[in-house]
Amino acid sequence: MVADAVCIVIKQNITVLGSTGSIGVSTLDVMRRHPERYSAFALCAHSQVDKLFEQCREFKPCFAVVRDAALARQLTEMCRTAGLMTEVRHGIEALVEMSAMPEVDAVMAAIVGAAGLEPTLAAARAGKKIMLANKEVLVMAGELFMRAVREHGAILLPVDSEHNATNFSQGLSATGVKRILLTASGGPFRTKALAELHDVTPEAACAHPNWVMGRKISVDSASMMNKGLEVIEAHWLFAAPPEQIQVVVHPQSVVHSAVEYSDGSVIAQMGNPDMRTPIAYALAYPERIDSGVESLDLFKVARLDFFPPDFERFPCLRLAYDVLRQGGTAPAILNAANEVAVAAFLERQLPFLGIPHLIEAVLSILPAGPEGSLADVLEADNEARRQAYRFIKEQGFA
Ligand code: NAD
Ligand code: MG
Repeated sequence: MVADAVCIVIKQNITVLGSTGSIGVSTLDVMRRHPERYSAFALCAHSQVDKLFEQCREFKPCFAVVRDAALARQLTEMCRTAGLMTEVRHGIEALVEMSAMPEVDAVMAAIVGAAGLEPTLAAARAGKKIMLANKEVLVMAGELFMRAVREHGAILLPVDSEHNATNFSQGLSATGVKRILLTASGGPFRTKALAELHDVTPEAACAHPNWVMGRKISVDSASMMNKGLEVIEAHWLFAAPPEQIQVVVHPQSVVHSAVEYSDGSVIAQMGNPDMRTPIAYALAYPERIDSGVESLDLFKVARLDFFPPDFERFPCLRLAYDVLRQGGTAPAILNAANEVAVAAFLERQLPFLGIPHLIEAVLSILPAGPEGSLADVLEADNEARRQAYRFIKEQGFA
């Protein structure tokens, strides 16, 4: 008689940085399907206290983190009234602490922008399993971050769908890689002429044809800066020089990326455009678990199109390749200028085409230094923001 196989699942304590955002909510959705595998150790957000409270009610984390002391008092009161044991903390120190505490097995890095750098770096220095959605971490401090991952034995799993796909494909065969084919939907303005791009609104820029995402990454997708940031992300994750990373516009977003090998073989990863697939991959790696994503219906997809990117209409992509080649703090400067430009565009203080103009202006006056320490990176980030605000105030870029 053959005994039944016994499967022992060790429950993982997860810290979710950015739990109220698009990736954070999808992460909790996957975790909700597997309560025997995952428990929320800390849920960290910025200012959406009501949403965070609802998450605390359902997932009963040990800790919750918000932006400041006033919001922390508010959430503490809500938790106490509901009889929850969740302890509420606030500020960047709390984010760093929640990423590095000994009880934490894995950290979902899903804060948007530069704000995620320090807590994600803390997770690397504490040797955690890091599920990385927050691509700006690698753009700002790729060398520093990858060194921390190596030196402290952290496990880094990309969540960005293209890098998740590349990681999967390279996992099947890591030698003889010739090119990484990084797919891009082209965003909502893929077919618009340059002249039409001047007047586009934040609403139009955030209406992505295939993905539902936060506002900053939606605007980045519309300007194709998102793909530029992803080229830099791929460079650090896969140790690939810029000329080995080819952007391929693929409007259906079904092929999430591909790897070409020296013998001509190309391994691509496909699936519906739903971030729960790469999130589930990262949570369960090396196993596969249900993510709640619908089966891919190839008959419904019917066709897959591929086009070269247009660097004239989407200058942000060119700027990202330029700073990657330049190295040092140049990508951190680009990232900071882009964050300021996108926020100004969303507040209708800058036209859409003002985004690349502003970034180019900041890059032209700030010399890139070496990406030595975290302090160097933060200083470059600060100075780039200061210059970007100054340009908007003095020159309007309208
Ligand atoms: P989002 O705007 O929906 O959510 C951002 C989260 O970060 C929120 O929980 C917010 O509270 C938190 N946050 C913002 N500023 C903060 C601060 N200063 N301190 C602490 N927390 C802060 O963004 P998103 O779409 O979920 O994207 C998150 C990250 O994942 C981004 O770096 C994005 O590029 C990346 N990413 C997102 C997608 C996607 O489909 N949404 C896909 C790939 C990669
Ligand atoms: Mg992506």
